[in-house]
Amino acid sequence: MNENIINELKKIVGEDWVVTKKEVLQGYLLDETAEPVRPKPTEDVVVVKPKSAQEIAEILKLANREKIPVFTRGGGTGLVGGCIPTQSSIVISMERMDKIEVDKENLMAVAEAGVTLGTLIEKAEEAGLFFPAHPGDEGAHIGGLVACNAGGARAVKTGVMRNYVVGLEVVTPTGEILNIGGKLIKNNTSKLLHLFIGTEGILGIITKAIIRLSPQYKATATMVVPFKDRHTAVKTAPKILQSGIIPLGLEYVEKELIETSAKHLGMEWPCKEGNAFLIVILAEFDEETVYSELEKISEICTKNGSLEPLLAETSEEQNKILKIRSEIYIALKPNTIDILDIVVPISKVGEFMDEMDRLAKKYDTYIPAYGHIGDGNLHPHVMRKEGWTMEQYKELKKEIYNAAKKLGGTLTGEHGIGAIRLENLRAFLSDEEIELMRKIKKIFDPNNILNPGRVIL
Ligand SMILES: Cc1cc2nc3c(=O)[nH]c(=O)nc-3n(C[C@H](O)[C@H](O)[C@H](O)COP(=O)(O)OP(=O)(O)OC[C@H]3O[C@@H](n4cnc5c(N)ncnc54)[C@H](O)[C@@H]3O)c2cc1C
Repeated sequence: MNENIINELKKIVGEDWVVTKKEVLQGYLLDETAEPVRPKPTEDVVVVKPKSAQEIAEILKLANREKIPVFTRGGGTGLVGGCIPTQSSIVISMERMDKIEVDKENLMAVAEAGVTLGTLIEKAEEAGLFFPAHPGDEGAHIGGLVACNAGGARAVKTGVMRNYVVGLEVVTPTGEILNIGGKLIKNNTSKLLHLFIGTEGILGIITKAIIRLSPQYKATATMVVPFKDRHTAVKTAPKILQSGIIPLGLEYVEKELIETSAKHLGMEWPCKEGNAFLIVILAEFDEETVYSELEKISEICTKNGSLEPLLAETSEEQNKILKIRSEIYIALKPNTIDILDIVVPISKVGEFMDEMDRLAKKYDTYIPAYGHIGDGNLHPHVMRKEGWTMEQYKELKKEIYNAAKKLGGTLTGEHGIGAIRLENLRAFLSDEEIELMRKIKKIFDPNNILNPGRVIL
């Protein structure tokens, strides 16, 4: 990177907040994408750590003037290589923008983009409130979660990030600062808010978000329902949702996976029976409702062939189950080629999983699959297989995507497109839609400097 540019950056953010040392840069060249498909970074980057939207605006103006690409980095927990600098560029790390205020009266938090999910959860609880979603690794930043419209294990009842965001401060790629929305539940004045949510940072850098919180649920319970096999378990999930009960979360996991995750954490999976499990997370404002829901769900599951459910009532037991579930990917990562993020209509989840069994047989491989079954959002893994080439893995991936498409599903439910899903995107979007997205990008970012090579072909 040109010395003059580095000096200009130092003038904007201060000498201490510009990183050029090779050893320190390494930590900014990767994310949590599985290593075999992770984009190859360039080392010709400079990392800057601004403290305000104004500093970011100045950096973007400089980048436009000099036509230098810029990559925004949040918590680096993304799974599709979104924040990895693949061209000689400026990396803007949001880590210093970490102020948060909870407004108890309006049930909202105003968080700078670099606040972590863990801090948001903690600060909400300290104020006697609750952030119901659990959209990913707790090290993820609010900016990254909003940019990716993250979902997670507790989205069935209250939705994904989009459902929580009522206001944003955004710096456009050309360096204008926008303040959109506010502490308002209804707002039909500004139309731009949702354009920045889920577009993975290609239209602007989110610097602040106003997030809705909920009162604390007074009663919660987590029930693990074991089944003898995958087919019976996944066919039961839609029946729970059709009953009128809306759990906070409804997850699907398999014995081998969940036990591997527990072992990796030095914990023990509490359910000894069964090979496939539904994890039902309930949250209500009184205990009676939770107990009556538990009873009804137990009945539905037993009728559909489940074994004896296991009930976790204390928050410690419940957190343990969520923790083991959340770490499956990390536990499988050493043997994972790629973690996919399929979503299909809920009624088609059973058929999709049967297709995974068929493909596993056809390719003589193992396709672990688990995920947010209550949203039809599953994470089949393409696993390492002795002697296979990248082309063979790609062929299997294509077949998995075709299976999803045939059932009315799509490429990604929450992880996003990032850098690594572009090669499969055409199968899911029309030429017209892609063209419109290109035009929108051009309006916001005429020089294509922000997150180039992401999201749009
Ligand atoms: C163990 C594990 C479990 C996970 N579980 C889930 C899950 O259940 N649900 C789910 O949805 N995701 C999950 N994820 C993925 C990940 O947590 C989410 O994609 C998250 O939204 C990424 O946030 P981040 O701050 O780490 O973003 P990064 O990885 O740093 O960046 C991701 C993308 O967002 C952009 N970006 C980051 N910050 C900003 C900003 N301030 N403004 C504009 N663009 C920005 C980046 O440029 C990049 O394109 C999981 C990841 C791991 C490792």
